[in-house]
Amino acid sequence: MEEQQFRVLLYYQYVTINNPEEYTKEHLKFCTNLGLKGRILVAEEGINGTVSGTIEQTNKYMSYMKEDPRFKDMVFKIDEADQHAFQKMHVRYRPELVTLRLEDDVNPLEVTGDYYSPKEFYDAMQQEDTVIIDARNDYEFDLGHFRHAIKPEIKSFKELPQWIQKNREMLEGKKILTYCTGGVRCEKFSGWLRNEGFEDVAQLHGGIVTYGKDPEVQGELWDGQCYVFDERISVPINRVNATVVSKDYFTDEPCERYINCANPECDKRMFCSEENEHKYLRSCSHECRVHPRNKYVAEYGLTEEQVKERLLVVNTTK
Ligand SMILES: [Zn+2]
Repeated sequence: MEEQQFRVLLYYQYVTINNPEEYTKEHLKFCTNLGLKGRILVAEEGINGTVSGTIEQTNKYMSYMKEDPRFKDMVFKIDEADQHAFQKMHVRYRPELVTLRLEDDVNPLEVTGDYYSPKEFYDAMQQEDTVIIDARNDYEFDLGHFRHAIKPEIKSFKELPQWIQKNREMLEGKKILTYCTGGVRCEKFSGWLRNEGFEDVAQLHGGIVTYGKDPEVQGELWDGQCYVFDERISVPINRVNATVVSKDYFTDEPCERYINCANPECDKRMFCSEENEHKYLRSCSHECRVHPRNKYVAEYGLTEEQVKERLLVVNTTK
């Protein structure tokens, strides 16, 4: 049997969707009938999605969307894949496309940062008086980021405005460059920065994934990999001189493999090699290793005796 070719589509569009809850149901039906899998968010302010499917399915989806005048200019970032990148198809209604929960919401159609092409962004990153702000979550930054980018000390995107307000002096009078995975978060964040009085604000058009595909910059100045919200977890960006910036939680060796702690109450995200995953029972601490609901222990059907034996070779304080 010939191997099926799959694709992963990443896309968003800020545009007014009337009756978004109604559209959510309709869209789920369409996607399910088509056989796509993925996660799509629908809000009154627009749509944001990642879906996977065969070439035929994804082609049909893209033409269907472009026939809709609201989405006729939608840009799809396309990745080749050898299988689906999701288990199920979800379309969900949300009050916001990206969770910022601002007191005064920003409409990117009215105010947003300048759009920089990958080459413009590449050049601007190397100029003096430029600050590069990563507009993603900490665990995304840890897997990979632009060289010299600032990692705001926040746990999630909605804490970003507060962090900026506390660190204003770092940004005053500078050119501010922002970036995120596909661009949807920066549209809002850069608009918010403008509203806050920062004048020279630019966003990476199409996000990191577009930067990685650009024939001119080829992902240069990106270190590590790019975190993605599907089963692939990470995708390569830098095609010139790729580096690894993340380290194994247990041994500090270079490692780009993310796992979650097997204690369901902990669920800590950590970089860990396959070898260490087994050695440490996929758990971040002794406490998690001996937790009664440890998922690793359940998955491998380890008896209490077997767990005890395995713990003898665990020689770490972690
Ligand atoms: Zn843990």
